[in-house]
Amino acid sequence: MRSLRNYIDGRWTDSTGGQRIRDINPADTDEVIAEAPASTAADAAAACEAAARAFPAWRNTPAPVRGQLLYRVQRRMEERKEELAEALTREEGKTLGESRGEIQRAINVLEFFAGEGRRITGETIPSELPHNFCYTVKQPVGPVAVITPWNFPVAIPIWKIAPALVSGDTVVFKPAPLTPLTAVMLAEMFEGCGLPPGVLNVVHGGREVGETMVSHPAVAAVSFTGSNEVGGQVYAAAAARGIKCQCEMGGKNPIVVLADADLDLAVESTIQGAFGSTGQRCTATSRAVVEASIASEFVERLRARAASLVVGNGLDPKTNVGPSVDERQLSTVLNYIGVGRSEGARLVTGGERLKDGGRERGYFVAPTIFDEVDPNMRIAQEEIFGPVLSVIRAPDAKSALEAANGVRFGLSASIYTSDVDRMFRFVDQLEAGIIHVNSPTVGGEAHIPFGGMKATGVGLREMGRVAIDFYTELKVVYVDYTGGKRTGNLY
Ligand code: NAD
Repeated sequence: MRSLRNYIDGRWTDSTGGQRIRDINPADTDEVIAEAPASTAADAAAACEAAARAFPAWRNTPAPVRGQLLYRVQRRMEERKEELAEALTREEGKTLGESRGEIQRAINVLEFFAGEGRRITGETIPSELPHNFCYTVKQPVGPVAVITPWNFPVAIPIWKIAPALVSGDTVVFKPAPLTPLTAVMLAEMFEGCGLPPGVLNVVHGGREVGETMVSHPAVAAVSFTGSNEVGGQVYAAAAARGIKCQCEMGGKNPIVVLADADLDLAVESTIQGAFGSTGQRCTATSRAVVEASIASEFVERLRARAASLVVGNGLDPKTNVGPSVDERQLSTVLNYIGVGRSEGARLVTGGERLKDGGRERGYFVAPTIFDEVDPNMRIAQEEIFGPVLSVIRAPDAKSALEAANGVRFGLSASIYTSDVDRMFRFVDQLEAGIIHVNSPTVGGEAHIPFGGMKATGVGLREMGRVAIDFYTELKVVYVDYTGGKRTGNLY
């Protein structure tokens, strides 16, 4: 068991409080992987102050040089990929293959933003004033608070920290309390690559640490990913201070399968989207909206595929679906399965906790499918964040679109059809930040913007070049070379 510390001002430090967080393997709760400090407001404040002290020198470090640090971290992460993947699987529960995929995403993100160090460009814009040269520059915002969830504990922190650092911001990073080990491994990689003290700080803990970071006067922007409940509070606190804030929150992503779709493809993608990463993805497929004429065949094929999935410890190469992340998430999932039953949806497969054959000490749930779900049922409206899929039968394409859009979230959505007209109509009208045509709801790439609309997201998108716009301020500069006072256009 590793005993973890905070990383503040370039030093590994104990918390000023004595409480500890236990980091437990969700596939085998007898295994305590690590312990981390449940840090105090004083620890969080110390990290914010360290980030503020480090800011002037980091801001003045040329952006291409900041980018070179990210290249070094990218190479370090490639070297430590297997070690990091195993820690991620032990800590969060996803399969080793999924962990490797997540880490590869983080490696790609580091590579992309390292390159952005040479491309943080502004514009030159023709002024309507004579002999005036007008241009824009992107400048660092300042110390940034980065608050992340447990479900992608490597990729999400990196897709915030990398653009922040290359933009010239310093960072205070609070990982989720369930995943402190991978956070420490990330900080070690930055430390080993020559990161100046205070440029990246890590403070373990929960609400108290997060609230202190968002309200600390040194913090100039907040990037949050997590639940709507917490994101709403973070957004309100940031708004009260008038600082920049982006919140990426929940999803209830639909896959729409029209009658002319390639059914084999649609079934396989639904399985991947619904049960990959145990359904614990913000982009997980949570609803399948299927044209009624093909629904029975679609559901039968889904049932057979879901029942063939191997649920178990993610370290076992045969495993397709790992555990829920902790007891709380397990009970949320089981509770929603009960809700689905009592709402009158038809349970097709799964629906129970699995406690046999080496799974006695883990939080395992059988992949679960409900059919004949009404779009207004709670299991069709609320984020479950587990291996539970709701199938909604729609009489025609128009009602399929209404059902797909009939939730408060809008992260990702898939449309399966072979009709090009209908495809474009869905692409135009689906209410989601990411649309997939004939591919699953999950996924994303380092250089492509990521984020949702409606209640899923507020603030600018993450990843892609647009991420730099969040971590920088745009400054407009007028250079008047008339040599005289301005005449006309004085507004
Ligand atoms: P959560 O909201 O419980 O916690 C997120 C982070 O906020 C954690 O680090 C937590 O300690 C911290 N926190 C808790 N209270 C706080 C407060 N008052 N002030 C500041 N910080 C506080 O979320 P979770 O359970 O860790 O993650 C699951 C959620 O994340 C799901 O809703 C999922 O959809 C969402 N998510 C969204 C995306 C996306 O890009 N849209 C990606 C991944 C996960």
